[in-house]
Amino acid sequence: MIDCDLIIKADYVVTMNDMLDVVENGAIAVSNGNIVAVDAADRIMAGYWSDRILGGPHTVVFPGLVNTHTHSPMVYFRGLGDDLPLKVWLEEHIWPAENRWLSHEFVRDAAELACLEMLKAGITVFSDMYFYGDAIAESVKKAGMRAVIGAGVLDFPSATARTADEYLARAERFIRDWRKDALVVPAVAPHSPYTCSPETLKRAKELSDTYEVPLNLHLAETEWEVRELLGRYGRRPIELMHDHGILGQRVLAAHCVWASDEEIDILAETETGVAHCIKSNLKLASGIAPVVKMLSAGVKVAFGTDGAASNNDLDILGEMATAARVHKAISGDPTVLNARQALSMATRSGAGVLGLDSIAGSIQTGRSADLVIAELNRPHLVPLYDIYSQIVYAMRASDVSTVLVNGRVLLEQGRPTTLDEDAIYARARSWAEKIGKNA
Ligand SMILES: [Zn+2]
Repeated sequence: MIDCDLIIKADYVVTMNDMLDVVENGAIAVSNGNIVAVDAADRIMAGYWSDRILGGPHTVVFPGLVNTHTHSPMVYFRGLGDDLPLKVWLEEHIWPAENRWLSHEFVRDAAELACLEMLKAGITVFSDMYFYGDAIAESVKKAGMRAVIGAGVLDFPSATARTADEYLARAERFIRDWRKDALVVPAVAPHSPYTCSPETLKRAKELSDTYEVPLNLHLAETEWEVRELLGRYGRRPIELMHDHGILGQRVLAAHCVWASDEEIDILAETETGVAHCIKSNLKLASGIAPVVKMLSAGVKVAFGTDGAASNNDLDILGEMATAARVHKAISGDPTVLNARQALSMATRSGAGVLGLDSIAGSIQTGRSADLVIAELNRPHLVPLYDIYSQIVYAMRASDVSTVLVNGRVLLEQGRPTTLDEDAIYARARSWAEKIGKNA
């Protein structure tokens, strides 16, 4: 018998490996943060020993869900200025609130609430794009999660910097400070081609290339953006980025709602990742990204929640369920974005677009134990004929019971082990009181 740190037993081990194997009555042995064996439960129990057994009857275990695009501290603006167009919402509500309230403390407290919300929804890794990256990293480390944290870059002044030079210098410092961390991956995040000049974007790309870190941006989110860039530069957003050599393997473009057929080919050729944020796009009436076309062209597409202020939750199960339904409706084809494909996008493709596929996104020997255990004894989850269908079309965040990142149990039977839930709610309410008075 080989000693290991813990063993997870479940009715279904949904591996999301290359073959999309599902092990019924399966088990996973975990040691030193990594998966050391995946097999039938009787074989694992015969070969491995641990005094800590998680999971059990009527559970499913699958890889931690990946949220590829969010602005985690915006949970504190959840429900602020809803039901408005993107531009009005940003310029008249969100940016003024950010200018008034953003600080290290605000961002740290808000990011901690976001970590709690995501852990409880089975998200083990997220890609963030905001300011005060150190404050976000502080909460991520406290929670024990994994995150790609993009330092925001703009061409105009905000609460954090005045000029592109200043934003880029801050981003570089943040990258240098965090690039050796085991769970936090620093990144550079120029906001978009309508808020950053091609020159600023090229300098951000240089940082990404120099330090081999991701570059995240918003791209082709609204029809307004397409018209605006055509007016300014005579090019559509994705074309413009391609002209300037901004796109590539380490680039993750959020939205791409208004990608033309030619632009979809550019995304595929350059191996640029796309974060599909369907609930945010629906709520802001930005449109629906041509994801089915993107997937058939070979574009790497994964799911993102976007910020909670435009969604209004951080729940990848919800994104998956919405996307899998909406793309069927708009294409008139119920076979597109099937349950296996949707769960692949939420796990292995998510890890892939973040450059983390050798670490996370699937349950395989040698990968990090970033895992979700969910309960199947629920009225909406019985009977069960197809585990993928159940997860994609019927499972809710509240069915998630236990979450591990790097072999560490961060949520056990619905309760966080690293975060103080009551304190997080109390801080959120006290900040909201101040924000509400000034709204
Ligand atoms: Zn966004």
